[in-house]
Amino acid sequence: MSLPTKYDTIVIGAGAAGLAAAKRLQAAGQNVLVVEARDRIGGRIHTDYDFAPHPVELGAEFVHGQVLTRQLAEQYELELMPVLADDRNYLHQARGLKKLNDYTSPAELAMRDVLQSNGSKIWDWADAWFEQKQPDTSVAAMVEARGIAFSPEITQIVSHTYSADYGVYWEDLGVYGLVENTYEGDGCDEFRLGAGYSALIDRFATALNIQLNTVVQQIEWDSTVKVITNDTVLTADRVVITLPLALLQHQTVQFTPTLPAWKQQSIDSLGLSHIIKIILKFDAPFWPENWEQCHTYLDTQLWWRSGYGFTNEAPVVTAFIGAAACDSIRTMGETGAAAIGVTHLEEIFGLNLRDRLVAAKLVDWQADPYAQMGYSYTPVGGTGMREQLARSIDDRLFFAGEAASVLRPASVHGAIETGFAAAEQILQGRSTTTA
Ligand SMILES: Cc1cc2nc3c(=O)[nH]c(=O)nc-3n(C[C@H](O)[C@H](O)[C@H](O)COP(=O)(O)OP(=O)(O)OC[C@H]3O[C@@H](n4cnc5c(N)ncnc54)[C@H](O)[C@@H]3O)c2cc1C
Repeated sequence: MSLPTKYDTIVIGAGAAGLAAAKRLQAAGQNVLVVEARDRIGGRIHTDYDFAPHPVELGAEFVHGQVLTRQLAEQYELELMPVLADDRNYLHQARGLKKLNDYTSPAELAMRDVLQSNGSKIWDWADAWFEQKQPDTSVAAMVEARGIAFSPEITQIVSHTYSADYGVYWEDLGVYGLVENTYEGDGCDEFRLGAGYSALIDRFATALNIQLNTVVQQIEWDSTVKVITNDTVLTADRVVITLPLALLQHQTVQFTPTLPAWKQQSIDSLGLSHIIKIILKFDAPFWPENWEQCHTYLDTQLWWRSGYGFTNEAPVVTAFIGAAACDSIRTMGETGAAAIGVTHLEEIFGLNLRDRLVAAKLVDWQADPYAQMGYSYTPVGGTGMREQLARSIDDRLFFAGEAASVLRPASVHGAIETGFAAAEQILQGRSTTTA
């Protein structure tokens, strides 16, 4: 054991939230240490620079609109490539692959509206549901209660759209959560970072004091805070905890004394989504030139070109799969997941692709010991819990991370905002709650 070392603030986790907290505190003159279990920073942001000639995202992939991450990219002069435009978006049903814009009958337009993740009528219906004081229920139940019904295949596709956005089917997503987590002002534009998401996070972390390969095992917080790691004991006036929600739910880190009941309640009341990515490289492109992404009724749910926009784009596609389909496919391992991916692509494009696969990667965030999840979602009855999760305890324990974002959970920019907010609480001496 090395000798205890004292800091003003220790930040646990070098993901987006932890780096943001550390950055703000360090800029204010604090002596800050970030401790990170992995041998890299970024957490659920992780770019692979080897799989293809261009970056391939294993975790966070897109900058969602006019958001903080877009401002950071512009500040760091990192290229933002517009992606996922509507006119390159397709839908795959049993009868084939068709451009989303070509669904134009009244029933199809209703379906297209529901498929929009942002700006859909579902948000208005959720607001109305809330204002009419109808009890919180699932998004699927609310839509059904409005007398709206789709064919089983379209219902499957809609569910897959929600699963891509939230990591869960709409049967599990709370209506009040939609009202609470508004993503207000973000807009609908989507961008890919030309240098990869990790490049943004590397720039963001410049000049921070970060100790990698340091796994926090225990936090003692009865007076001065002690952070007990795999090889050292560190002390500080306070800690900012940015552990993923799953690690808090699974009590991977021991708190002494234990967390108060209200804090544990907030941790246990939010949902953990499950997400995998299957990333497949082929010998040559096989898709129509203007195809960039499609939702499918098949279990692989959502496919896109991993390198759309790069001049050196390789024939690589990503399947983004959440919820129960994720849980069943992830058990098949990389070879099995790749095989099912190829089979589904064959069905989607009506081609024989079996002998054309060059390389495959399965990214299973649940199996990652320092994530154990995709991202958080707000289940029925879960509103108010994110604000409660973000509250500090006794001016010693501060919390940040995507799950603590009320307005923008499950996003990089939301996570950064929570890190800044925790730092502001510390700097202004505003501990919100005592134990
Ligand atoms: C597959 C996938 C796709 C996504 N796509 C997008 C997207 O396109 N756009 C977008 O905006 N967002 C996306 N997100 C969400 C986004 O990645 C997260 O919301 C955000 O990165 C979370 O940041 P965080 O700091 O809260 O948590 P994390 O990034 O998980 O950081 C927590 C850190 O704590 C560390 N840690 C864990 N345990 C310990 C321990 N015991 N001791 C020390 N350190 C520990 C972890 O290693 C990690 O570095 C995606 C997420 C996933 C999983």
